[in-house]
Amino acid sequence: MEKKVLVLNLDHTPVAIVTVQKALVLSFLGKVSSLVHYEYLSVRTVDKSFPYPAVVRLHDYKNIPYKGVLLNRNNLYRRDNHECVYCGSRKHLTIDHVLPRSKGGQTNWKNLVTACHRCNTQKGDKTPEQVGFVMRQPPFKPTLSYFLAEYAERNAEEWLPFLDLKTV
Ligand SMILES: [Zn+2]
Repeated sequence: MEKKVLVLNLDHTPVAIVTVQKALVLSFLGKVSSLVHYEYLSVRTVDKSFPYPAVVRLHDYKNIPYKGVLLNRNNLYRRDNHECVYCGSRKHLTIDHVLPRSKGGQTNWKNLVTACHRCNTQKGDKTPEQVGFVMRQPPFKPTLSYFLAEYAERNAEEWLPFLDLKTV
């Protein structure tokens, strides 16, 4: 599989993942500079060979409105490691509103968790405290870095020093 390139803003915030071709074009256009290369890899053209960039940084600060990680079922399951936050089951996963909607609970990262069908049904229209459920981890809003770290650990260790692994 072709390795991807991490693009950082001028302030070192990760802003995008691009292909190596795109990274080289940006580099030729003078828009980015390489910070780290993948070891033992190079990009070849007909008569030249270039180091293969792993992390590049924009020369100009780009004001990219931070949209955060898209809130959807897949990303929510990923945040919770595909496990029910109440019992740890990995089967029949559903999405649970921690504070039920009927009690004013909102649909956002901090009020949604992955729950198995059984726990979700048992909890029903109550709060975790009311049914004696304890969450294995409190819900949090993941950063882009949080998801990138998963990819980086498997495919691009060169990125890890540039990822901010704190959660918000
Ligand atoms: Zn469960």
